[in-house]
Amino acid sequence: MKTIEMYVNGEWCNSSNEEWIPVTEPSTGSELARIPRGQSKDVDIAVNAAKDAFESDAWRSVKPFERGRMLTEIAAKINENRDELAELESTDVGKPLSQGYADIDAAIRYFEFYAGAADKVMGDTIPIEDGLLDYVVREPVGVTAHIVPWNYPIQILSRSVAAAIAMGNTVVVKSAEDTPLTAAKIAEYFDQINIPKGVFNHVTGYGKEAGASLAAHPLIDHLTFTGSVETGTAVANRATSNVTPVTLELGGKSPNIVFADCDIEKALTGVTKAIIQNSGQTCSAGSRLLIEESFKDEFLDKLVARFKELSIGPALEDKDIGPILNEKQYNRVMNFLEIAEEEGNILAGGGPVAPKNGENGCYIEPTIIDNVAPDSRLAQEEIFGPVLAVFTFKSAEDAIDLANSTDYGLVTGIWTQNINKAHLLSSRIRSGQVFVNNYGAGGGIQMPFGGYKKSGFGREKGWIALYNYTQVKNVAVRYD
Ligand code: NAD
Repeated sequence: MKTIEMYVNGEWCNSSNEEWIPVTEPSTGSELARIPRGQSKDVDIAVNAAKDAFESDAWRSVKPFERGRMLTEIAAKINENRDELAELESTDVGKPLSQGYADIDAAIRYFEFYAGAADKVMGDTIPIEDGLLDYVVREPVGVTAHIVPWNYPIQILSRSVAAAIAMGNTVVVKSAEDTPLTAAKIAEYFDQINIPKGVFNHVTGYGKEAGASLAAHPLIDHLTFTGSVETGTAVANRATSNVTPVTLELGGKSPNIVFADCDIEKALTGVTKAIIQNSGQTCSAGSRLLIEESFKDEFLDKLVARFKELSIGPALEDKDIGPILNEKQYNRVMNFLEIAEEEGNILAGGGPVAPKNGENGCYIEPTIIDNVAPDSRLAQEEIFGPVLAVFTFKSAEDAIDLANSTDYGLVTGIWTQNINKAHLLSSRIRSGQVFVNNYGAGGGIQMPFGGYKKSGFGREKGWIALYNYTQVKNVAVRYD
């Protein structure tokens, strides 16, 4: 079994207690690797290394455009190793191989995008009075912590790490214990380029141990957390006690709103992809379908037919749907399917799929549940599986109310040919992103991403995320 090490202060290391966590392959249930079970002592060493690096002349003297070049080098290394990384991500998370490739390509784009931005974030001058020059500079915040979930490991690491380094910060990443393998590869690439030691650090371990220690560390200057609402709340509480600013990217219960005047083929493809991608284990999964009542039967008949044709299998076979991450996630989804048996009307799927040839992966059929009560758990809670809950509406106003009827507000899809309806709904729906006649805009590296309501606060991706990793200093200079 492969042993993965942590990367701290330019060195590869194990945890201080020399204990290990097994990493399991979702497609087969077999062990892929083992990682160090990082402890608070290990986190402390990593944070101090990042702090020393931040305060060093070696890092301060790197010019912004040179930081950009370093990020470009990382992008190039990801690209050179694209096949290996896609296979690794796909094996580690259980996502179909083509989705593994899409994630690697997104990671390349994040490093490229923020590489280009490194020397383009500018300050301001403010007119006050004659004899007083007032200017505003954006400085790096310092040591940034990045707690990453298991479902899109390389993408989520890349989007915040690249932005933080572009702005001159140093970084401590805590990867998810279930899917740490591509983070270790990124550490390898940082090790290969000429960047001061301690600028990029990767610690591994359980959330309640390494993650909690990182969130509570007093030397952290900014914390980016991506994960569940429950953990995000705990993490934010810890950070707040040190007055550490946080960006929270949390869950969703995102609706696809389908009007009778939509392009039906495009809507069918968009709605299907939005819930089966990564077996529905996606924060922005389109897990609610809101259909105009007059169009319901026609659309649902076609959608059910599509769901029944979807193929399921191990990640590297690149079927439409791969396994669920692990038994814990599987049991969670199955629990919701039991509720669906009692409360709803299951139109497609609804159960497990046996893995092949004695393998132990957990697979679940893509499922459509009709007649879901808008206030039920099926309607309100993030299931994190390939499970779509269906609702109907009569008017645009009804659609808006239904769309806004959960605690979440991450993403919304609107399918209509009517420009008035598209704009009316876009303006009235409370979610961080709205897609009209598409869902996801092909990854949207450049577009701000984040949640309204319990889906989080702050934004990642795009230019705006750079500001998470800067702080503003105002300087007023009196001259005669
Ligand atoms: P999670 O909250 O269980 O874990 C996320 C990370 O936090 C992991 O690295 C974990 O080890 C760590 N962690 C766990 N407990 C911790 C603690 N007490 N203190 C500090 N760190 C701790 O989430 P998950 O199951 O890995 O990911 C799924 C969730 O993430 C879903 O809710 C999904 O919607 C959300 N998510 C959001 C986005 C987004 O950008 N909005 C993207 C992907 C996933």
